[in-house]
Amino acid sequence: EVSMNKSLCLIAAALVLGGAASAAPSPAPAPIEKLVALDDMPRLVGHLTVSGDGSRIYIPDGGAYAVLDADGKLLDHYPADSMPARKLVPLDPNELRARARNQIRRKFYQDRLRADLGHALELALTDPLTGFYNQRYLMRHLHGLLDTGTDRIAVMMLDLDHFKEINDRWGHPVGDQALRAVAETLRARVRVFDSIARYGGEEFVVVMPGATVQEAEGAAERLRSAIEQIRFEPEPGVVHRMTVSIGVACSRPGRTPEQVLQMADAALYAAKDAGRNCMKMAAAD
Ligand code: GH3
Ligand code: MG
Ligand code: MG
Repeated sequence: EVSMNKSLCLIAAALVLGGAASAAPSPAPAPIEKLVALDDMPRLVGHLTVSGDGSRIYIPDGGAYAVLDADGKLLDHYPADSMPARKLVPLDPNELRARARNQIRRKFYQDRLRADLGHALELALTDPLTGFYNQRYLMRHLHGLLDTGTDRIAVMMLDLDHFKEINDRWGHPVGDQALRAVAETLRARVRVFDSIARYGGEEFVVVMPGATVQEAEGAAERLRSAIEQIRFEPEPGVVHRMTVSIGVACSRPGRTPEQVLQMADAALYAAKDAGRNCMKMAAAD
């Protein structure tokens, strides 16, 4: 398992492999999980194709294609013969290579961190309700990212608004269902290389390696809006609208994980103060 993790790294996957793809194209994209050998990277990167406007990356694989957005988030996958081939324009290969290399490096790092932890320990670091990492893993992950000193990261702290009302009105089990619905939405909306932790009861942290302030702001706004659009039905015929407040902070050389989290937390409280269902950036300094 460890040696597999060492020799493999993810570039993109989610693909139903080989003949399975053409036999039964699946409607929803599977989570990205297929690994390719690191040694295959140059060959594979040579085959990446980017849409004319640079917003989509197409990755061929065993008779199918994965479609990622420019940040590496899986958007869709198709059987190869349904690809709109003429619309694909190879983009600046150097930029593409750099981008793919970056993504692979991050993913490789995360895989190694997990392999080091070992499977049993990883389970102990995972929250059973949502499957997200817990606070302990989050801290380790943040230290790992920031101690390497090479990468910027953005950290988003999310707290559901008036969550207590759900428990009060419909009971704790329904509250748990609401948390799972939120977790699914978050999981489906972050990039491949982001990680999510359940930080507290109804608080989540999203770590975005490599994200600029603007990208983090955009991502936070997208998550806020996605949560607002969840149709949560605590009882038949009743839709309860959930909202979230979000604080965002970015790392900087010399800033500890604890400091970044604390800045995100302060921004979160500013969002609550501002009336909830909104996103605030930590004060730049
Ligand atoms: P706001 O954040 O907007 O200020 O209001 P809130 O009602 O969300 O704030 P508060 O922090 O007072 O309440 C959070 C509630 O979340 C309290 C607790 O009952 C509930 N909660 C925490 N963890 C869980 C859980 O695992 N399951 C359920 N069902 N509820 C939980
Ligand atoms: Mg809370
Ligand atoms: Mg809350």
